[in-house]
Amino acid sequence: MSSRAPVLPAAPRSPAQDDVASGRGTSSDAGRVVISCDDVHKLYLAGRRSVYALKAISLAVREREFVSIVGRSGCGKSTLLHCIAGLLPASHGEISINGERVERPGRRDVGLVFQTSALLRWRTTRENILLPAEMFGLSRESIEPRVRALLKLTALDGFEHHYPNQLSGGMQQRVAIARALVHDPSVLLMDEPFGALDAQTRETMNVELMRIWEATPKTVLFVTHDLQEAAFLSNRVVVMTSAPGSIQEIVEVPLPHPRRLDMLYSGAFVETVKRLRELLACQR
Ligand code: ADP
Ligand code: MG
Repeated sequence: MSSRAPVLPAAPRSPAQDDVASGRGTSSDAGRVVISCDDVHKLYLAGRRSVYALKAISLAVREREFVSIVGRSGCGKSTLLHCIAGLLPASHGEISINGERVERPGRRDVGLVFQTSALLRWRTTRENILLPAEMFGLSRESIEPRVRALLKLTALDGFEHHYPNQLSGGMQQRVAIARALVHDPSVLLMDEPFGALDAQTRETMNVELMRIWEATPKTVLFVTHDLQEAAFLSNRVVVMTSAPGSIQEIVEVPLPHPRRLDMLYSGAFVETVKRLRELLACQR
């Protein structure tokens, strides 16, 4: 699996990124907290109605951890991810990424992937992948080796001049992943990225994502309602309660890396999924 993974050339860095990479301005190097939520609440005000979506979420995701969030539909998973991405303001509490308070979207240290790939249909694969690079003012020449490596890493070489409607759903999601990685963010936030895919393609995408993560380790927060997907991908799984969403329990996944599909039959995997299922079953 890993033999296919090319080494990605780094994107040109900003001084702030160099500080993060060297550990300057952070409390410790190994295992430092990258994503931090401290007593986060979210109340939606919709006209005269209000919806209490998140309650007292405190969570620390450490460098290079892959953490999934599971929970029933409507428990606040997307709300939490949108707050962490700076797309929604929290009503109370504090969220920070790489030690810097989250106040708006469009940070260079974050890559986002959502359920639908949200590709621009008038742009080719390559042009879609280049979007964040344009947004952050990185020159085409400086980013070119990285784009080529990402096309290879996501098995899209040969499709770089195709438009989204000429690609399968799985390929479109791989373009979205390459787009999220092009500016070399240290954090990936993913909201049910494979939710719209059939079971077979989803399994292939899980293996692909693990291969990419093992080749270019990032700190990943991954929302899913699929317990097997969560257990296969993650170091830890956060189980949320029903609305208002709070953290019911955090389950460690005792499987080594690299993850392989035959681990789906291991006792440790089956036990982890069983534990997650029990936790969700005891909710109303
Ligand atoms: P999940 O992703 O776990 O399915 P969401 O975060 O989408 O859940 O939603 C959590 C709760 O917040 C739900 O009750 C949903 O109806 C409500 N909600 C989500 N977005 C809005 C909004 N923009 N305005 C009002 N209520 C919302
Ligand atoms: Mg959602």
